[in-house]
Amino acid sequence: MVVSYIYRPFRCVDGCSDCCIYRQYFPSVEYGKTGVLLLPHEKLRIENCAKRDGTEIKILPRIGLSDECRNDGPDRIIMYQLMGKETDGNTCPFLDIESDKKAPNGGYPCKIYEERPLACQAYPVSHCTKNQNPVLDTRCKFCKVNVDSPEKYSLIKELAALKKIKGLSRISTTARVWRYATHIGEKKDRKKFLPEGWVLQDM
Ligand code: SF4
Ligand code: SF4
Repeated sequence: MVVSYIYRPFRCVDGCSDCCIYRQYFPSVEYGKTGVLLLPHEKLRIENCAKRDGTEIKILPRIGLSDECRNDGPDRIIMYQLMGKETDGNTCPFLDIESDKKAPNGGYPCKIYEERPLACQAYPVSHCTKNQNPVLDTRCKFCKVNVDSPEKYSLIKELAALKKIKGLSRISTTARVWRYATHIGEKKDRKKFLPEGWVLQDM
């Protein structure tokens, strides 16, 4: 039997702002919580947005590369991260939780929506399978309430943003990869955190 779907553009769950609020430990709690991924060319744009709006932000490195065997960190940074504004690492500083404004889905609006990072544009697509089928982040509320029918939604814009990220952040197979431990997260987890700084990843 052939099932023909009517593809609708992806739309956030009414009232949800979860992905702009809750940050995750990645790849494990030891590394602390991550921020919103920023490519190097986005860093300056986001810093300018913050200056223009008078928003206080914190940007940390995320992934670095080195060609040589060295112990003191990478020689180039290929990804940064925009950290949450709360001490537990949550809540993007550009999420407008103070005014009465609302996003189209009724959630909190993004103050820099038109200039938001590619990572925000790609979400909730996390990656694609070998057959180029989009895989969604199951933490997204949309995935939780649409478990049976995510394929009925069109994710063209999200996939285009993911493609840009992949194209702009290719990692040479010979490079050594470093990940930045943020030392940011829930108070109860603090004892598990690595010191803030670069950690060489297993080859
Ligand atoms: S978690 Fe999912 S449904 Fe909620 S705002 Fe983010 S993308 Fe939209
Ligand atoms: S930049 Fe905007 S869309 Fe991205 S996490 Fe922050 S508030 Fe959300």
